[in-house]
Amino acid sequence: MKQPRLYSDFNGPFQPSHMLLSYVGTLRDLNVQKVVLSTGLRVTVYSDSDEEEDIEMDGIVCFGSVPDPTWPACWHVRTDAQSLRFARVTRETGSFLLPCFGCGSDIYEHLNTGRCPACGLDVEYARHR
Ligand SMILES: [Zn+2]
Repeated sequence: MKQPRLYSDFNGPFQPSHMLLSYVGTLRDLNVQKVVLSTGLRVTVYSDSDEEEDIEMDGIVCFGSVPDPTWPACWHVRTDAQSLRFARVTRETGSFLLPCFGCGSDIYEHLNTGRCPACGLDVEYARHR
C-alpha cells in the first residue's frame, strides 16, 4: 500500500519535528485517501512550498503531547529529520472540496455542524481517537 500523504503546515507550531494534523487540508487528504488516523501509521506530510514544489517529510503518526506542555494532546506526526525534501507537483485548480469519508458528499460547508448532511457520519470520523 502506498504511504498516505497528508497536508500539514511547515510554518505551524513545533515544526518540523512534530507536524500537527489538525488542518482542514489534512482532513480532506484523509477522506480522499480513506485513511483513519492511528498510532504508528507511517505517513508523508507536505505543505506547498511554491507554485511548483511541495516540501515533504516522512514520519509516524502519534496521539499525545507536543513540545509545549500547555498544548492539549493531539494528533501529530513525529518526523524523520533526514527525510526532508522537495517534490515537484502539479497544482489542481478549482474550488476546495472536502468529501465525506463515508459517502463522498462535499462537507466543507458543514464542518461546523459536525455531521455529513447526506449520510450523517461525523465529519471528524478520520481523526477520532
Ligand atoms: Zn456522508
